[in-house]
Amino acid sequence: MKYSKLVETYQKLEKTQSTLEKTSILAELFSESEENIEEVVLLAMGRPFPKWKDLDLGISSRTMVDIISQATGKSESEVEKAWKEEGDLGIVAEKMVEGKTQQRLMTQELTAEKVLERTDKVARMGENSLESVNMDKKKKHIAELISSASPIEARYITRTVLQNMRLGVGEGTVRDALAEAFFQGENTEEIQRAYDLTTDFSTVAKACTEDVGRLKNLEVEIFRPIRSMLAKKVESVEEGFDTVGKPAAIDYKYDGMRAQIHKKDDEVKVFTRRLEEVTKQFPDVVKAVKTNLEADKAIIDTEIVAYNPEDYSKVPFQKLSKRIKRKYEIQRLKEQIPVEVRPFDILYLDNSLLNEDYRIRWEKLVEVVQESDKEFKLVDRAVTESEDEVVSMQQKSLSEGHEGIMMKALDARYKPGSRVGYMVKLKPVMETLDLAIVGGEWGEGRRKGWIGSFKLGCYSPEKDEYLEVGKMATGLTDEQLEELTKRLKPLIIDEDGRDIDIKPEVMVEAEYEEIQKSPNYSSGYALRFPRLKSFRDDKDVPDSVQKVRDLFNQQ
Ligand code: AMP
Repeated sequence: MKYSKLVETYQKLEKTQSTLEKTSILAELFSESEENIEEVVLLAMGRPFPKWKDLDLGISSRTMVDIISQATGKSESEVEKAWKEEGDLGIVAEKMVEGKTQQRLMTQELTAEKVLERTDKVARMGENSLESVNMDKKKKHIAELISSASPIEARYITRTVLQNMRLGVGEGTVRDALAEAFFQGENTEEIQRAYDLTTDFSTVAKACTEDVGRLKNLEVEIFRPIRSMLAKKVESVEEGFDTVGKPAAIDYKYDGMRAQIHKKDDEVKVFTRRLEEVTKQFPDVVKAVKTNLEADKAIIDTEIVAYNPEDYSKVPFQKLSKRIKRKYEIQRLKEQIPVEVRPFDILYLDNSLLNEDYRIRWEKLVEVVQESDKEFKLVDRAVTESEDEVVSMQQKSLSEGHEGIMMKALDARYKPGSRVGYMVKLKPVMETLDLAIVGGEWGEGRRKGWIGSFKLGCYSPEKDEYLEVGKMATGLTDEQLEELTKRLKPLIIDEDGRDIDIKPEVMVEAEYEEIQKSPNYSSGYALRFPRLKSFRDDKDVPDSVQKVRDLFNQQ
């Protein structure tokens, strides 16, 4: 297929904001490209390969500046300058190709296959060695592609290489366009199902060009990740049981990284929730799975949790995330931030288990997991219908530093990609704090004339002083702002520009997301996203700084 044909579609897509129109534009392209539908779908999504293939072009915007300069004979500083002006290297490439001094390399027209073949080649350079990638060669390949492109083609090649198409085409649009192109708008659910299982629109599109039967036959395959089932949020144990039924399985909710782990004989691959492959970053996980998962062919759903090697205490996710991103010095990082794998579900064991009830899946998981001391352990879990038991598990989980609990329906299948109520997460109920309003700021814009933000204070009996613990600014209704301003205005002690100090007489009950340590407030702590729950006119002394400290330690 001529690349210019694809480019015409890109231009049409770029011109409209309407999802419906985008869908028909894509549908038209798809129905005219049955022969090379796999390539066309990938290119239409602006990703030369599905994201779970461990391939990355590895070309940054900075490198792209070099490439454009190389391909067009313009100086790097000219390209840089245009980039600053346009804010989009695609447009820059287009303009530079338009005014280039060198001859177009090939007289032949560029094809979509050629673009795909080149980008694929570049992505595969250095695929097996993380260290030595020959950047000059990569640049040369892409520069050649741009040299042989027309100006408008250069715009989209550049964006494809940078993997930022700016076309507003999401997965839903591709799904609907396939339905429109091949089934007169029918079978959207089937297409979605096939995508959830394969996470690869080129495979799905190929099946669409054949028949519905082919589409329905698409199944889970080892080493091709499945979209993860997501959890709904509930506010109480009662709501949890209402959603998942009684009895239910209650798991600890760990603060780690969701990992879908595939094993076939002696080969293991690890995928994140965003379906990116991270096998190379986690050789310790691979080893633990090889040793402790007694199955030839399996896919398990797990949480990878980092711990402190000195005292086994919990390590926050931010630290673990270092390991996800890092591609170098993996061994050193592995020792600094060791991890344990906590399997909680099994999706495949010789056959797909997605349609089996969770009760059965768990039994199968228990059969194949050989627990080890640290590296590989089933999640802490109980089956119960007692609300009291759930509450005590939740408290225990929180006191051990975990995030809370998950509640799971025993008689539910695994539904990939959906936030269905087959599994719910229970948000920990934060104890509220009673605090005094000790200061604030006059509002601006729409909040002019009102006090727009409020400094909250707790009390230190030792110092007989009010200590600040944060600022409440968002989530207040106009009525609340008006009432607060009316009450606080007479209590203003001092003003400095917009800043005001207020006599601590108005007491509020504040909700918040969490308590963080903070050098910015005199108490040493800051509430994250504090909200006004109620006025506490019945109180005249706020909660103590000791209480804030205790709640911080309990989180
Ligand atoms: P959230 O990310 O807040 O939507 O919560 C769901 C996430 O909790 C999942 O994607 C997992 O990464 C994580 N998680 C931790 N422990 C468990 C567990 N026992 N079962 C399921 N998910 C868990």
